[in-house]
Amino acid sequence: MPANKLELQDITRVYDGVNVVDGLSLALKPGEVTCLLGPSGCGKSTSLRIAAGVDRQTSGQVLIDGQVVSDQSGHMPPEARNIGLIFQDFALFPHLNVERNVGFGLKGSNASKKARVCELLQKVDLEGYVHKYPHQLSGGEQQRVALARALAPKPQVLLMDEPFSGLDDRLRDDVRDATLELLKSENTAVLLVTHEPEEAMRMADQIVLMRSGRIVQAGAPYNIYNSPVDRQAAAFFSDVNVIEGVVKNALTETPFGQFLTPGMVDDTEVEIIIRPQHLKLDFDRKGRGPNPTVTDGVPARGRVKRSRYLGHQSVVEFMMDYDSSVLKVLVPGVFLPKVETAMWLSMRRDRCFLFKK
Ligand code: ADP
Ligand code: MG
Repeated sequence: MPANKLELQDITRVYDGVNVVDGLSLALKPGEVTCLLGPSGCGKSTSLRIAAGVDRQTSGQVLIDGQVVSDQSGHMPPEARNIGLIFQDFALFPHLNVERNVGFGLKGSNASKKARVCELLQKVDLEGYVHKYPHQLSGGEQQRVALARALAPKPQVLLMDEPFSGLDDRLRDDVRDATLELLKSENTAVLLVTHEPEEAMRMADQIVLMRSGRIVQAGAPYNIYNSPVDRQAAAFFSDVNVIEGVVKNALTETPFGQFLTPGMVDDTEVEIIIRPQHLKLDFDRKGRGPNPTVTDGVPARGRVKRSRYLGHQSVVEFMMDYDSSVLKVLVPGVFLPKVETAMWLSMRRDRCFLFKK
């Protein structure tokens, strides 16, 4: 196991009597990207600022390479921490060209500085840009210069706060991929703050999901997506359908048949959560439909209330005969059923999450 490069241990930050960060612990490892993910205002930037040392926690401690750099008794300033920082606005020096921006924090001989600047500009695919100024660059190019500048002094840890949010959608995926490649090649330990689940899924080795200053769940993207700890954690990553039920004799009755709810006492209210892409629409109850996939459980009848064609998929709002509830179904491909079409809906039971209400 590689050593933790940076650790936050039981960090709390109080502003105006409120714990905006409340007992947060996490660890960053070399060559790993950890995404701090959560809705606006949940305490992500405050946590990152505490890691950087530009803000100081009310309690808890910060460690770098296993050494305490901030606790009740002392606080190492940010410039002494060997940490790189990138914020949303990139903050390039407007009066310095690309070469001097990237070389800004470098020490040593001119030749060694030049070599490092060259190496990084090559890695971010901007070799020909050394003499350009920030205003002559596109948003994506500025982002890559900011990344090269932050990584030039070989920081062990890079902290990034919403670094891609200023870029337009099409550019963003390419810049993210290039960034990831560079970070891996430099073996940097990275904390990336974002409010976008797709960005976290795309970038992270580990996602730390936050809500109201606390960690709700941490783990690999696959686990966070497929084993959410509660309804809100599931709903943060996609639309979800909620099927409500009540336990009777360790079973819960739903339009899709009975669900086993062992160990739950009678009258417990439960919610079964299913993402729209894990429901399947068919023309008949034998499963002959436009998109054959494996499903199980009992199909349920209903009719199409509304459908929207999105190109790569369609969204169908489907009204269940069972109780007139409306479930959202994502249908891949070009299938677009007409309103009022009677159809059968089935679900992938292995993709359902069941929680106590
Ligand atoms: P996020 O980055 O997740 O959007 P922040 O960490 O910026 O959230 O903020 C978390 C909470 O702390 C917010 O309610 C915000 O208003 C509050 N907060 C942040 N900085 C300060 C400050 N300097 N003074 C008072 N309240 C602050
Ligand atoms: Mg923020």
